[in-house]
Amino acid sequence: ETTINKISAGEVVDRPSSIVKELIENAIDANSTQITIEIKNGGIKYIRVTDNGDGIPPDDVEIAFYRHATSKIQNYQDINNIYTMGFRGEALSSIAAISKLNLYTKTQDDILGTHVEYIGGKLILKENIGCPSGTTLIVEDVFYNTPARYKFLKSESVETKHLIEVASREALINANISFELISNGKMIFKTSGKGSIEDNIYDILGYQLKGHLIPISINKEDILIKGFVSDLDFYEKNSGDILFYVNNRYVFDNDYKKTITESYKSLLTRHQYPVAVFNVLLPANRVDINVHPSKLYVKLYDKDLIFNAIEQEIKKKLVKERS
Ligand code: ADP
Ligand code: MG
Repeated sequence: ETTINKISAGEVVDRPSSIVKELIENAIDANSTQITIEIKNGGIKYIRVTDNGDGIPPDDVEIAFYRHATSKIQNYQDINNIYTMGFRGEALSSIAAISKLNLYTKTQDDILGTHVEYIGGKLILKENIGCPSGTTLIVEDVFYNTPARYKFLKSESVETKHLIEVASREALINANISFELISNGKMIFKTSGKGSIEDNIYDILGYQLKGHLIPISINKEDILIKGFVSDLDFYEKNSGDILFYVNNRYVFDNDYKKTITESYKSLLTRHQYPVAVFNVLLPANRVDINVHPSKLYVKLYDKDLIFNAIEQEIKKKLVKERS
């Protein structure tokens, strides 16, 4: 049982940044309006994610650590109709299996909260405790009991970079949640939670973008495409800020990157990249997010339609801007 836990843990949890991704998504699913992420040493030594969300009722705390325990899917039909970030019930059990984990959680309705401690997936301690409503997860010494995986970790600075990237992607699109990321005691970014993705782009990707963003909004049947692209007075030296979301979920898609660079072709040189953030909102049955454990790859049924529309609209806006 523990071995199986450790093996499957590798699929969801391959480095500190994927732990942070799962914990942030759990906090989002719990209706939080404030999420604080604190890391030390690239998350290898220490990760803390604190939210002010729903919390977990005392009787459900241990169940949340069972494999495939999820409160988010009731039946098989639901899997084709997913609006929550999580749904497999793998994250908590996987993370607990490869670390030292402390969880503090309390619902609004309960007077006392619950504290549990897991070491290498074993429940060590469970107690009632006074704490604020919401959930705090502290994950320490990632992969301490799986030396092979530990060896695969990169330097602290590389892990920190991945972690900032993951937290940034989540924070940027969830504009109604105030995010704060602290690394080794230093504030990396903070967002207001006041609902503006444009402001989040400035807060996270940088204030030098102010005055250089073009808003884009496209409506095709029941698909809504919303985004921002940088104007021609601005460019970056890499494609790191070409971001794509589907129903507020960050996804990798090479065709999207191609679409964006194609839209700027002959307007920027080969080593200049625009900033582009797009979020496609569509009915959940128009996208399959169940193709990869990381949920980073999705199958988008209306891909051609969407990317063609994006390319046309960017070109139109850029031409207008130049004239
Ligand atoms: P999933 O997100 O796929 O349901 P997880 O293993 O990530 O699975 O979490 C298991 C369960 O623990 C969730 O379904 C949820 O009920 C509960 N949970 C986890 N994190 C939080 C949180 N931050 N706030 C409230 N409930 C949480
Ligand atoms: Mg989850």
